[in-house]
Amino acid sequence: MPTKKPDSVKLDRIVADARRNAEQRDLGYREQALKLYPWICGRCMREFTRANLRELTVHHRNHDHDFNPADGSNWELLCVYCHDNEHSRYIDHAGGGASKAEPGAVATGNPFADLKGLMSGRKC
Ligand SMILES: [Zn+2]
Ligand SMILES: [Zn+2]
Repeated sequence: MPTKKPDSVKLDRIVADARRNAEQRDLGYREQALKLYPWICGRCMREFTRANLRELTVHHRNHDHDFNPADGSNWELLCVYCHDNEHSRYIDHAGGGASKAEPGAVATGNPFADLKGLMSGRKC
């Protein structure tokens, strides 16, 4: 039985850092996309305000959420419904199963509600 090396402690910290960075990066691209583009769904042209902004999501055109060029060329703002459609089309095409994500029903006015919705209904 090998004893726990000091290295593994270091590794734990690296993993924790990487996870935190990934979370911040995810928030980062949403903020950037919202700064870059008007708050309008690219499919149904619905307009958004701060009140319902949580229903506007960032879609990655190539479906790779790790690909985030600063010019926003891989981003598209879509409402949750159109975003679902976009992905179910993709899933249908790939022959996989579709999972339905219920968009949050209530607006609480809590700034973290946005964050929570983003985390639970994670899309690319
Ligand atoms: Zn839409
Ligand atoms: Zn997407």
